[in-house]
Amino acid sequence: MAHSPSQPQSDATSSEVKPANFLRHIVEADLAAGTHASRRWCGHPGSGPEQQAGAPDPARIRTRFPPEPNGYLHFGHAKSILLNFGLARDYGGVCHLRFDDTNPEKEEQEYVDAIIDSVHWLGGDWTVNGVEHLYHASDYFDFMYQAAESLIQAGHAYVDSQSAEEMRANRGTLTEPGRDSPYRDRGAAESLDLFRRMKAGEFPDGSHVLRAKIDMTAPNINLRDPAIYRIRHAEHHRTGDRFCVYPMYTFAHPIEDALENITHSICTLEFEDQRPFYDWLLERLAEAGLLVRPLPRQYEFSRLNLTYVVLSKRKLIQLVEEKHVAGWDDPRMPTLVGARRRGFTPEGFQMFAERIGVTKSDSLIDISVLEECQREHLNETAPRRIAVLDPLKLVLTNVAADHEELCEAPNHPQKPEWGKRQVPFSRELWIEREDFAEDPPKGYFRLYPPGATPAGDPRPGNRVRLRYGFVIECTGCEKDAAGNVVAVHAELLPDSKSGTPGADNYKVKGNIHWVSARHAYQSEVRLYDRLFSMPAPGARRMGDDAGDPEGLERNFLDDLNSNSVQTIVAQLEPALKDAAPEDRFQFERHGYFVADRVDSRPGAPLFNRAVTLKDSWSKGK
Ligand code: ATP
Ligand code: MG
Repeated sequence: MAHSPSQPQSDATSSEVKPANFLRHIVEADLAAGTHASRRWCGHPGSGPEQQAGAPDPARIRTRFPPEPNGYLHFGHAKSILLNFGLARDYGGVCHLRFDDTNPEKEEQEYVDAIIDSVHWLGGDWTVNGVEHLYHASDYFDFMYQAAESLIQAGHAYVDSQSAEEMRANRGTLTEPGRDSPYRDRGAAESLDLFRRMKAGEFPDGSHVLRAKIDMTAPNINLRDPAIYRIRHAEHHRTGDRFCVYPMYTFAHPIEDALENITHSICTLEFEDQRPFYDWLLERLAEAGLLVRPLPRQYEFSRLNLTYVVLSKRKLIQLVEEKHVAGWDDPRMPTLVGARRRGFTPEGFQMFAERIGVTKSDSLIDISVLEECQREHLNETAPRRIAVLDPLKLVLTNVAADHEELCEAPNHPQKPEWGKRQVPFSRELWIEREDFAEDPPKGYFRLYPPGATPAGDPRPGNRVRLRYGFVIECTGCEKDAAGNVVAVHAELLPDSKSGTPGADNYKVKGNIHWVSARHAYQSEVRLYDRLFSMPAPGARRMGDDAGDPEGLERNFLDDLNSNSVQTIVAQLEPALKDAAPEDRFQFERHGYFVADRVDSRPGAPLFNRAVTLKDSWSKGK
């Protein structure tokens, strides 16, 4: 089991200080008060009596991450995963991975597999002491059905045969109470008979629904006899056609939590108004002897909203299906599979989650906060390499054609213990096109040929240092028929090699990177940028059709960034040829890159840009 502080309150002062938040305070208070200490666990999810027959629950708390397998996980889910698995880890608990698969439509095995991979990748671990806590809500259908029958028998539920429209009309509004259904006082025996026939498949979809019997005048609309079971003649991806009645989410979720002995059921704020029903339902089932107290408690936090992305599954599915991106794992997608291909790290997400914290107030976080966390982690962990992304040939005219020597480059400037590597040097090199200017603008310190000053005096070609190599002096350039520069010429100063005595006597302002043309590894590099060019894709902008009704959205696809990916052929230092998929590097002066885990072949990696070295968006790109 994970580390469990004997005095939970001391957690904030332990060596691994985690930022406090209201949920950690709740957990600490519950542990101190022993709120959940009497729970027993039979080794697997089960009813109250089954759990009672087990040993004291070895998990001090139980949390869960309950995705619906109807899409891939996105950055918002990362917040929930890190929160739930993090609480369990820090307080001697267990976090369950539960597939909330009670809706027969839209759920697929492909999503289940991808979710498992992504939660693992982020560091979520549901195997504790060799026991796997991976569950499927659909395994609880039998219990849920029995719970529904028991509610009917106790007079807490009835079958309503109104049409959907009638039900809607009788629900009332925020300011008006609802009206009782004419079927509300149907006897338990009649409701039970109808419910069994619903299950037996005698009725079409929508003809009857089972409702909890609470209070049609309750100020909280969620307590106005909510629907708890409906008829759906649909195949379920795990239970097939065994059922044609399915529980509603609001009925299923509390039961799933209770069967799994969850102590702290953490969800997003939209569910705050559902909490009274959550408690009502579990109390009724405890009264009926199906569950045992202490019951799970629900807590809400604000969901993650981020600029420059969309986090709704519906919109993400649309991006994939309409091929605005190459797939769910397109490195521009705000999905966890996309982030992984992009070169983002789990540690970067962890840093982000800690930085934004957990609160109950809605907020919109700037995507640059996430990018900066990724950058910080990559800066610490990514070895440095040299890459020329926009190659221009440099010929050192005083170096012999067959000359070859090695220069030493540090693997990380702040980590001498990472050592140095050798990079080959020869007469012909690749440099960045922007490191040469035939006509240098004012203040340009890189390569330019001999010419004349504005006053007409002769001006020598400029000197720069080839990073980790020699100082060179530009002597001219070659052009093609169209006048484009095709090669730069320079002479090497032989006694200027970095690391040799006297090298520092040369004072030059420019320092450019290079790779030996003969040794370079030529490869495809994808320069990714934000998928959307607007902070709130699809939101109405100031001055948009003022006469339109409030709340009308523009099409979020209109805000796609037309320049979100650029594929180039780059010249890379030879060592990069051996990069394994998912190896991450800083390409000096360019940013952080990862060897693509999908398209790379052994000995032929392709690279994706994760983030640039600096945030170029905040400066009004
Ligand atoms: P969507 O609204 O995009 O369909 P969802 O909430 O329906 O997402 P689920 O699969 O039901 O997706 O979510 C699983 C868990 O992830 C839930 O507990 C939910 O509260 C949490 N979650 C989903 N989106 C966010 C978000 N933006 N921020 C924090 N937690 C989230
Ligand atoms: Mg959902």
